[in-house]
Amino acid sequence: MSGALSLDDKLRAFVGQASGPPTKGRHPVNEPMITHWVEAMGDHNPVYVDAEAAEAAGFKGIIAPPTMLQAWIMRGLRASLVSDAARDAGAATADAPSDQVMALLEEAGFTSVVATNCDQHYERPLVLGDLLEVSSVIDSISGEKQTGLGIGHFITNRLEYRDQRGELVATMRFRILKFKPGTGTAAPAAVAATEDPAPRPLRPRPAITQDNSFFFEGARQHKLLIQRCSNCGTLRHPPRPSCAVCRSFAWDTLEASGKGTIFSFVVNHYPQVPAFDYPLVVALVELQEGTRLVANVSGIIRETAAIGMAVEAGFEDFDDELSLPVFHPADETRTD
Ligand SMILES: [Zn+2]
Repeated sequence: MSGALSLDDKLRAFVGQASGPPTKGRHPVNEPMITHWVEAMGDHNPVYVDAEAAEAAGFKGIIAPPTMLQAWIMRGLRASLVSDAARDAGAATADAPSDQVMALLEEAGFTSVVATNCDQHYERPLVLGDLLEVSSVIDSISGEKQTGLGIGHFITNRLEYRDQRGELVATMRFRILKFKPGTGTAAPAAVAATEDPAPRPLRPRPAITQDNSFFFEGARQHKLLIQRCSNCGTLRHPPRPSCAVCRSFAWDTLEASGKGTIFSFVVNHYPQVPAFDYPLVVALVELQEGTRLVANVSGIIRETAAIGMAVEAGFEDFDDELSLPVFHPADETRTD
C-alpha cells in the first residue's frame, strides 16, 4: 500500500523524528581552540582570550564565542573519512531518518542541495570545560516550492546542544533546500530584458573623495585619467594623496590611451543585481601606461575572456551622474 502514498505524505511521516543518533563533542571547550578561532575570524573581543577582561565584563573567566557552537561537536576529518568508507563498503548507515529523507528526495529527482539559513539561540555562554552533546530532530519538511534555484523541498532540522549535566545550552535551526537542478525561475536580468516598464535601479555610487574625484570627473567627460606625481612623474592608481616613490603630495593627471590587457578577471553570476548586466565580467586591466584598474569588460563572456587579452576603453553613461570606463576587446569596433 505504500506505493499509494505521495512523496509529500512519505516526507511528512519523518517530521518529529530524530535525524540520527546524538553526537558528543571530541574535546571540552578549551582555550587553544578559542584562540585559534578568534585569530582566524579576526575577532578582537578580549572576553574570549583575557580572563581579566572577561571578569570585568561580568563572566567568571574567558568564554567561547557563541558562533563556535558547531565547532565543539565536529567529529573531525578522520571520523568523517572512516564513516564514508564504511558506507561505501555497504555498512547499514542509511537507516538514519535524515538519510532516508535524502534518499527519497534523490530518487524523486531532487538531487541538488544548498544550505539556505541557520538560526542559533544561546541559553548561556560556553565556558572552559563544557563538554557538549548535540541531538537533532527533523523539525519540518515543506511541500514542493518553486525557487530561483529550482523546484524543491525545504528541510529544517532542530538541534539541541546540552552540556555534561544534560542542561540545554543552545538550539539551532538549520534549513536546507533539496532541489531539481535546472528547474529554477528566470534570473532578474532576463526579466529586465523583457518589456517590463519598471524603472531600473541606478548603479551603486562610487565613494568619491577629494583624492579620487578627478577620476570620476574625467570619466564623465569620457577621459581615462591616471594620477601622476608632478615631482618625479610616477603614475599611480587607485588615486591616493602622495607618491610612493618620492613622497611628494604634488600631482597632476595624464590622459591614458585606453589600451591595455586583461591582467585578471572574474565572471560574476550570482547574486544578480538589477543595476548590472550579466554575465558581468569584472577585470583588472593593465593599461599600456603601466597602472592597473578594475573595470567591467563588455562583449565577452566567460568562455571568451582570457588573461592577456587586448582590450580598449570605451565609456558608458549609466545615468546623469555616473559614467565609467567599460573595456571591450581591442579588435571589436568601438561603439561609443
Ligand atoms: Zn613622485
